[in-house]
Order: sequence, then structure tokens, then C-alpha cells
Amino acid sequence: MRLQRIVKSAAAQVPVPNPIYASWADYLARTSWIELRGRCRDSAKRANRKRLLSSAPAHRVDPLWVWQLMSKARGRCAHCGSLAVERRPSHPHKGSPIRWEHVGRRVGSLEHKQTRFGGGGNDLANLAWCCLWCNTWRDERFRGAQDHGGYYPDLGREPGPKRSEAILAAKYFAATGEVWSAEAAFASQPVPAQFSGDVEIEYEPGDDEPGEPLYYPR
Ligand SMILES: [Zn+2]
Repeated sequence: MRLQRIVKSAAAQVPVPNPIYASWADYLARTSWIELRGRCRDSAKRANRKRLLSSAPAHRVDPLWVWQLMSKARGRCAHCGSLAVERRPSHPHKGSPIRWEHVGRRVGSLEHKQTRFGGGGNDLANLAWCCLWCNTWRDERFRGAQDHGGYYPDLGREPGPKRSEAILAAKYFAATGEVWSAEAAFASQPVPAQFSGDVEIEYEPGDDEPGEPLYYPR
């Protein structure tokens, strides 16, 4: 708890910048297929690592699951509900991690509902999309919290999982010239970077009904 106080007081001194992404839709529109897949792979890799005080996980997290959790949640944290799709801030030149507490509720992360240390595994049912602040501090999970960069754009206008998947499929097609298969796409070799441009996609009305993302009880 002492550490928490120190982190919190440090966060208070850092001015909170505007959110990088206005919405989940904006995140999808402005993120290339390469970036999306890289992010899902990074999260899976982190979950699959051996940890100092936990045994090696019995199951491996599939990067595809990360995408499914993230899109089902429309990028929202399962606890506070903040749009959590930014990556941990890093130094603009060195690329090394820098302070993140002031935007902690905007940084997306993969949560083990039952912690690895507490015996929780890598099975899909034990995973959730969550902001880094709630993931780090379990007693800070307040719905709608405005601190640490909490940001709550209108959910009703966001693409749901099906539309999000259609956006991803279009990006994938633009990058590879191949028709989307989620399993193949997330397992595929790196796509040449020059094909990673964004694409526009038209929706059919009623592709997805607006709705609440999944929340998990505290
Ligand atoms: Zn949160």
C-alpha cells in the first residue's frame, strides 16, 4: 500500500494528455493490421511467460483470444469501463518504458481474473480485457472512475464484435490479399510492412446491435 501511495502522488504531478483515440471505432480505424496483431501477440506472450513466483502456465494464450476479448469489450476495461486501448507510454527516442500512472486507465492489458500467483490459469474463461490501472491495483476498480486518465466515450456508437471483426478482415485482405480466417491470420508469418496501410470499410446496417460490453463482477 505504501508503494501505491507513492505511485499515486507521482501521478498527480504529471499533466494528463488528451486521449490518443477518441473511441474504439477510432482505434480500429487508425491501427494497422500489423500493429493489432503485434499487440495481441505481445499480450499473449506476456501471459505465457514463466513468472518468478508462479509455475509455468498449463495452457498457452492464443493471440486470437486477446483480440476476441478486446473486441467483445469494445476496448473497455472490464472493471472501470474506461476505453483502454492505448499502449504503455514509451520514450520517444529510446523506446524504453516511461511513467504511465497518469494515463493508467487508458492503457489496455490482459487480466487474469484469478491471478497467476493465486493459481489462476491461462484458460480463456480466466482472462479479461482490462486497463492497466485496474489490473495493477485491485482495490481501485471503480466503475466510471475519472482519475488516472479514465475516459468514457459513448458506447452506443461503437462497432460491436462482428463489425470489429469485419474491419479486421478488411485490413487483413488489404495487407495480404487473402481472405480472412481468424485462426490463420493470427498465426501467420509477418506481413510485409509496406502493405500495412489502413482501409475503409462499408457496413451493412444491423451488422451489430449496439450494446454493453461484458463486465465482470468485482
Ligand atoms: Zn479499469
